[in-house]
Amino acid sequence: MDRTVRIFIVEDEPRIARFLQIELDHEGFETAIEGNGTRAFERIMQEPYDLVLLDVMLPGMDGMTICKRVREITDIPIIMLTAKDDLEDKVAGLDLGADDYITKPFAMEELLARIRNALRKRTAVQCKAPIEECLRVKDLVMYPRRYEVEVGGESVHLTKKEYSLLEYLLRNKRTVLTRDQILQEVWGYDYSGDTNVVDVYIRYLRAKLDDHFHEKFIYTVRGVGYAIKE
Ligand code: CA
Repeated sequence: MDRTVRIFIVEDEPRIARFLQIELDHEGFETAIEGNGTRAFERIMQEPYDLVLLDVMLPGMDGMTICKRVREITDIPIIMLTAKDDLEDKVAGLDLGADDYITKPFAMEELLARIRNALRKRTAVQCKAPIEECLRVKDLVMYPRRYEVEVGGESVHLTKKEYSLLEYLLRNKRTVLTRDQILQEVWGYDYSGDTNVVDVYIRYLRAKLDDHFHEKFIYTVRGVGYAIKE
């Protein structure tokens, strides 16, 4: 992450809160402490934190209620700090949408590992969409939105017509396409030339792909047409 990660420590026992703050500051996190549950909930709603360490037993609103109410509004990572090794508390916390929990007293190393894990999981979710569409065959990749083609990571320069022809072949991978089909699809119905133009452009593509990269992409099916396949 480029900027400092802000961790909100919600803990009413000053000794524990202070210990967490010193350790987390030392690890390079930015921290804030709140000991009252009701104010903690308000601050989570108003201030931009990246992760919440949430004690269960708090004056004002308790940790379980905070977790439940926060989850109705945001998916900020929450790690519950359970005072006792109480299975019910852990299960309840996770049911309410907490990302993880840790039992007090805990080793700082374990808490740090859980913090990193919760932050990583959240980043992964955020990065999932939107996935860019790409068309592949062997090590050839086409990115239709960017109008780019790469073979083994090397970009290939294609003219507009070569690109359209390749895209049509890729979208119909493994299907044998007749010259007439290609002509209609890539050149349009009103194209008045003869089907030789297809053969000519297939040759251009082969020179830039098959020949240049010493790999067979485009197959000729005699008497029928062309296909691109694995
Ligand atoms: Ca407490």
